Amino acid sequence: MSFAELGLSEAIVRAVTENGYTQPTPIQAQAIPAVLKGGDLLAGAQTGTGKTAGFTLPMLERLLSGQRAAPRQVRALVLTPTRELAAQVEESVRTYGKYVKLSSAVIFGGVNINPQIQRLERGVDILVATPGRLLDLLQQGAVDLKKVEILVLDEADRMLDMGFIRDIKRILVLLPPQRQNLLFSATFSDEIKALADGLLNNPAMIEVARRNSTIEIVSQKIYGVDRDQKHKLLTHLITERNWFQVLVFTRTKHGANKLAEQLNKADISAMAIHGNKSQAARTRALAEFKSSKLQVLVATDIAARGIDIDQLPHVVNYDLPNVPEDYVHRIGRTGRAGATGEAVSLVCVDEHGLLRDIERFIKREITREVVAGFEPDPNAKAQPIQLRSQEHRQRSGPRTNNRSGAQPNGDKRGGSSGAGGRQQAGKPARSGSGQSTQAAAPQRSQTQRTGLSSSTNSGRPALGGQAAANANQQRRRSGQR
Ligand code: AMP
Repeated sequence: MSFAELGLSEAIVRAVTENGYTQPTPIQAQAIPAVLKGGDLLAGAQTGTGKTAGFTLPMLERLLSGQRAAPRQVRALVLTPTRELAAQVEESVRTYGKYVKLSSAVIFGGVNINPQIQRLERGVDILVATPGRLLDLLQQGAVDLKKVEILVLDEADRMLDMGFIRDIKRILVLLPPQRQNLLFSATFSDEIKALADGLLNNPAMIEVARRNSTIEIVSQKIYGVDRDQKHKLLTHLITERNWFQVLVFTRTKHGANKLAEQLNKADISAMAIHGNKSQAARTRALAEFKSSKLQVLVATDIAARGIDIDQLPHVVNYDLPNVPEDYVHRIGRTGRAGATGEAVSLVCVDEHGLLRDIERFIKREITREVVAGFEPDPNAKAQPIQLRSQEHRQRSGPRTNNRSGAQPNGDKRGGSSGAGGRQQAGKPARSGSGQSTQAAAPQRSQTQRTGLSSSTNSGRPALGGQAAANANQQRRRSGQR
């Protein structure tokens, strides 16, 4: 099946071919004809599946017929949860729309609003926006959504996780009732289903394989290490193995800054990106990383969302994520489009419970290794893990409502905490899922050999408190796809 056979015009196919794509990905093969028909669409697809082109290409095609946008008007509106994703989607629109006469713009918070007002004044065929800044512009009368023909909600689950539902609803009422709606989401929670029910009219439904069924091509490894030796081990791995283009995930913004500093001191060029960094700093770090000027990019989960780097060779989990699904998102950043990649996790005694949750989620055991000179202390005691929401509270006081900490975009409407909507405020620190679940820990003998058994955890009652909350959250996330 070729792009032309899917019903796309020569000008669009030419741009796609020039971009190096010869065959549609599964989501594209299904979504493109469905969108071209003009009906609504509910699509289950994650970043990395080619979903962006899946909606961008048929959207461009459909907009080819019809009047160009009048001043302040918009013909297609794409809402995304993060600035980075918004910027990338709009870049795709420009790439694929190279040979057609359609205009596009991207708007998000954290940058000067005036150039955005000026740009919208001329009218935009395709507007890609984060919800907060779009609402600001709507309130100022800078943009008019009455002529929107196509609405796309990209990564809708993330938008809900990040507390955007009220903003989305406020935007939806400003759209004309007659329009095409496309909803893309990696997961189908009850909230997503409710949103889809209210928004979509008899939608076509498609779902492509989740990333966690394609992670086989990523080589995954766990290095057991003591908490305070992690940065030295990372420095050692990067230097000894000549790693370039290393994307490192930390749990907290503070942790990201500290690690970038430690790496710089060891003569490894590194920058941190997270919700407290200005948009300019984030853009610069990302550009330098993509062009290989920067050896290491240290990121929190939210800042890294939507980062799209082809052929990223190394992903390092400096801290394990609190939500098992984030592990899959993280390591899926390598091994894209058939390339093999390597994902290593530096795991200390505090994180054994998280590791077990991840292994259950991906339904496989990850190979354990220790690096000579960095063997973990077998008698080390687990300490509670600091969570993002705690970091946020310590720095900025308690949250007053969901929005206050839920917008990592730095949209001025929602603050720039990066506290992360996935992390529920007030969650207790986690230190493992309890002893009675240990029987299910995979291959204990190996884990014991490497000092990575789960028995050093705090010994809380099985599935009490945090573990039960996590289990529920996991059921919600994974059980209802
Ligand atoms: P997305 O899921 O939209 O974030 O896309 C993931 C990656 O797949 C991006 O790096 C795209 O450039 C790439 N991609 C999209 N469509 C294709 C295709 N048909 N063939 C090869 N790569 C693609």
